[in-house]
Amino acid sequence: MRALVIEDSRTSLKLLCGHIEKMGMTPIPAETGSSGIELFLKERPDLVLLDIIMPDLDGYEVARQIRQLESPGDWTPIIFLSSLNKDKDIEMGIAAGGDDYLLKPISEVVLAAKIRAMQRIIQMRQSLLVLTRKLDAANQELKRLTSLDGLTGIANRRHFDSVLLQEWRRSMRQGEELSILMCDIDFFKMYNDSFGHQRGDECLRQIAQTLAQSMDRGGDLLARYGGEEFVAVLPGTTLHGAALVAEQMRQAISQLAIAHPGTPFAHVTASFGVASAIAMPETDPQEVVGAADLALYKAKHEGRNRVCQTRSLDPQEN
Ligand code: GH3
Ligand code: MG
Ligand code: MG
Ligand code: MG
Repeated sequence: MRALVIEDSRTSLKLLCGHIEKMGMTPIPAETGSSGIELFLKERPDLVLLDIIMPDLDGYEVARQIRQLESPGDWTPIIFLSSLNKDKDIEMGIAAGGDDYLLKPISEVVLAAKIRAMQRIIQMRQSLLVLTRKLDAANQELKRLTSLDGLTGIANRRHFDSVLLQEWRRSMRQGEELSILMCDIDFFKMYNDSFGHQRGDECLRQIAQTLAQSMDRGGDLLARYGGEEFVAVLPGTTLHGAALVAEQMRQAISQLAIAHPGTPFAHVTASFGVASAIAMPETDPQEVVGAADLALYKAKHEGRNRVCQTRSLDPQEN
């Protein structure tokens, strides 16, 4: 530990530095208030011993400046050493930012005891800081996990809803189109019935990966909507653009060539619905989701393994 000792009397300074060394600490001597502040900034000591009556800056002012120089959350203990023995002096010392106040002449034993008490507080504070840091990290991880789907590792419905609302508001502010893409695996009940739930789960994971790889824009978000359904929000994307993305996804799933013998396609396929809108006041983003769902229903109805779109909700186009 390093202790900054600010004391204008050379004799006292030398004596104090000697006490500090005996305690196994390194003294940093300063003979004036202003050089003390400079050394505080340069050396970042663990403790400050501070005289009050000094020719340039007095100890109160030095303590105030040190407190201002500390970053938020930082704390260096300051112990005043003074011959001023009125209650008022002690009160002012603590108000200026001091943590303790010792009367001169300083007893080496009392100084050592006070410093030991400060060290205990410093250590306690340090373990608290470490704990807080760990807690922050754990909270962040928890926050991340609550937004993810456990099976596929992509975003979950909850996270999708919050991102959708955010993007809807942005669309309203910027007058930009926003698209929703819905995807539902074809004949998936039959897949489970043929191969079992574990293979079904594996298939869901693979498809989630494939869908995620087909999206390349930063603002896009893919989520598991539920069961074997996926949803994506594509901000700043037109209906046409969204249909292209969906078509790429459809082909990518088809190219996985996951065997599914009972179906007309002999491998796993998916159907897609896309819809788009420019958000308007008093509109609900769930309307576009509903429109995409309607398009998906159409894709199923028309034979599956295809992309359908519903008309844009943009009143200027309707
Ligand atoms: P369609 O082509 O009309 O979409 O037919 P489908 O069989 O895919 O649709 P349906 O809604 O009848 O069945 C969906 C099935 O998805 C039901 C269930 O067996 C399966 N499923 C839903 N969630 C999971 C899951 O987490 N794991 C597995 N393995 N299967 C799931
Ligand atoms: Mg003095
Ligand atoms: Mg379904
Ligand atoms: Mg399905």
